[in-house]
Amino acid sequence: MSRNRPVIAIDVDGVLADHVPHVLTRANAEKKIAMSKADIKEWNTPVGGVPFGELIHGYFSDSQFVLTMPPVDGASESVGRILKTAKVIVVTARPQVILDLTQRWVHERIHPELEVFRAAEGNKYSSSASILIDDYLGNVEEFAQRGGAAVIFDQPWNQDRSHLLGGRYHARLAVAATWIEAEKAVSRLSGQIA
Ligand SMILES: [Mg+2]
Repeated sequence: MSRNRPVIAIDVDGVLADHVPHVLTRANAEKKIAMSKADIKEWNTPVGGVPFGELIHGYFSDSQFVLTMPPVDGASESVGRILKTAKVIVVTARPQVILDLTQRWVHERIHPELEVFRAAEGNKYSSSASILIDDYLGNVEEFAQRGGAAVIFDQPWNQDRSHLLGGRYHARLAVAATWIEAEKAVSRLSGQIA
């Protein structure tokens, strides 16, 4: 890898896209419930009796739902700055059928030059990246095991992470609650792997 241009892989849902509030706005209205983001502690947290993962996969069949998803605060600005010193690829576990829509969303809402790749959860190490930014601890652990560095994007569903932060890969891991913090973490980790 280039010393000056590391490759950063960035996840979509929970990192670039604020998917949970978007799902809950619709689910709360449909099911007459009042759940908030903090209630979603895992992928299959029940939402009005339906596991979250099943719910979002249903909503993904609505192109307007995909295209109107709000970005995480500051994602577009931070990615723009990161692109000045690194190559960025977007890696998602979303279904293949909405990859084109996801690509369009990324171009419209994040940055017009980013390319989106699909990878199964836990398989993001297969990309060429040296740093991963992800909210799913399974991906982070797998990526670190393969020698990569990772930024955990802080979310209500990834709080149980002491085994990773206190484990053998701790020096190659960082936690970021905001995109500004993620930028700082990428800069620090890039220095380490260079
Ligand atoms: Mg994610």
